[in-house]
Amino acid sequence: MKVILHVDMDSFFSAIEVRENLELKGLPVIVGGRIQPEEEKLTKESDRKIRGVVSTCSYEAREYGIHSAMALSQAYNLCPDATLLPVNMPLYKKVSTELMSILRQYVDKLEQVSID
Ligand SMILES: [Mg+2]
Repeated sequence: MKVILHVDMDSFFSAIEVRENLELKGLPVIVGGRIQPEEEKLTKESDRKIRGVVSTCSYEAREYGIHSAMALSQAYNLCPDATLLPVNMPLYKKVSTELMSILRQYVDKLEQVSID
């Protein structure tokens, strides 16, 4: 019997961020944007991360109407208390590699089409 698995991690980036910091569990978490070098000198946290778009967010953030590709400024307006985190691609790639390694234990052939 041939079995085909289609795997797509849910809310991948924000789930990893919550795994890295369990204090975020159950809270609205938004991953998106990137802190530009010129923004490093800004002291207000909200000023630093307000540009860019939402890459992904937790289910708790989605309850506020926040979704992928939304402008971060709009997401911030919908939920000012959300935790905004910059994209940490090296970490997500590391976790992705670990996950794909686990999946390879169960299949003869694996076609990876995205990070998750
Ligand atoms: Mg996914």
